[in-house]
Amino acid sequence: MDFDFTPEDEAFRAEVRKFLKQHLPKKQSFETLAEWQKQVRAKGWVGFAWPKEAGGGGGTIAQQVILKEEMAKAHAPALGSCFMGLAWVGPSILSYGTEEQKRKFIPDILDGKYQWCTGYSEPGSGSDLAALKTRAVRDGDDYVVDGQKIWTSIAMWSKWIILLVRTDASESKHEGITCVLVPMDSPGITVRPIKNMAGGAMFAEVFFDKVRVPVANRLGEEGQGWQVTVSALAHERSSIAEVAGLQRSLDEIKSLAKRSKKNGKLASKDPGVRRRIARADARIEAMRLNGLRLLTRQLKGENAGAETSVNKLQRAALEVELGELALEIEGGAGVLDKDAAPEKGKWQRMALSWPEVVIGGGTPNIQRNIIAERILGLPKDP
Ligand SMILES: Cc1cc2nc3c(=O)[nH]c(=O)nc-3n(C[C@H](O)[C@H](O)[C@H](O)COP(=O)(O)OP(=O)(O)OC[C@H]3O[C@@H](n4cnc5c(N)ncnc54)[C@H](O)[C@@H]3O)c2cc1C
Repeated sequence: MDFDFTPEDEAFRAEVRKFLKQHLPKKQSFETLAEWQKQVRAKGWVGFAWPKEAGGGGGTIAQQVILKEEMAKAHAPALGSCFMGLAWVGPSILSYGTEEQKRKFIPDILDGKYQWCTGYSEPGSGSDLAALKTRAVRDGDDYVVDGQKIWTSIAMWSKWIILLVRTDASESKHEGITCVLVPMDSPGITVRPIKNMAGGAMFAEVFFDKVRVPVANRLGEEGQGWQVTVSALAHERSSIAEVAGLQRSLDEIKSLAKRSKKNGKLASKDPGVRRRIARADARIEAMRLNGLRLLTRQLKGENAGAETSVNKLQRAALEVELGELALEIEGGAGVLDKDAAPEKGKWQRMALSWPEVVIGGGTPNIQRNIIAERILGLPKDP
């Protein structure tokens, strides 16, 4: 068994590290982030694995993983300033978009010109996404959209939304769904921000009242929305980059334990803290090895498969565990907030932000169902 990357891949890793050393912004301000975006884009590292003719980097999957891993280790600002655009809107447009849609959207996504948001979940259809009810009825060259989405992250700052709508209620629930691209300033759209428990408002309810969407904005064929969505979410799923982020958090917690007191002695000497750190370390390593297994499959041209759910489940549990462990090590100061808290409330924010990782993209119960049915061959959830 060979766990190493090829010499070419390792040379690429060295190049990424050198670039990060030279260009990583020391402080994050609007100007430094804009400059960072320009430099990463000039390297061809935004949309790294997208085809060159579409303006991407034409890179390999293995090197994309290395790039993301090194960026995560260095806590680099997100690759490109248009997260959802790069993660799934762009890949969907590249796979299903018309030539006109590619010309219109892909360069802007690569340049991070504006934000995209994702309108999938509705009240009553989250885990069971295919039960969605927001309706789109054809009227001449337009669809007329009525309904409501919820938990739409960054809706209030987005220029466009990738939206799933029901165009045919008579079909089986997966088949009557269509994907459309809608400008957020269309008449009839109302965005109502929802406050989260960490004190911010990162997501919103989005209401659609007779919103006219040109048929030219449909992504894929009518009724093909489910395939568009599934294929979009299947990109880069080995999760090795997330492992690097978790490892970095754990390393910071180890340093925190070495400088914090618990029961009158250093927290790093406390047997309970040591046991939890060791357990987290072992679980992160198991996740990394599972990630390498998934990457190997992808390199052989196979689907990463249902095993991605194992890492999604592990990651969710570890994010919660690390946030709680850090607050416990901080002791009394752990209950402070924002500027009053140590490190400006960094660990408090992590401890309160778990829903993003735990619920977003499929809850732990749904991951367990996938593992039970598709990996362990247990009977299907009724
Ligand atoms: C921070 C954050 C950001 C998000 N951003 C977006 C976004 O940008 N766009 C978007 O469209 N959505 C977004 N979501 C929504 C997210 O995808 C849904 O919350 C998620 O899919 C769960 O759906 P739900 O909230 O309707 O819960 P439900 O599906 O109602 O689930 C409630 C509970 O029941 C359990 N459950 C449900 N079905 C089963 C089953 N078959 N077997 C066992 N247990 C089950 C679940 O595990 C959960 O514990 C976001 C959510 C969060 C927390």
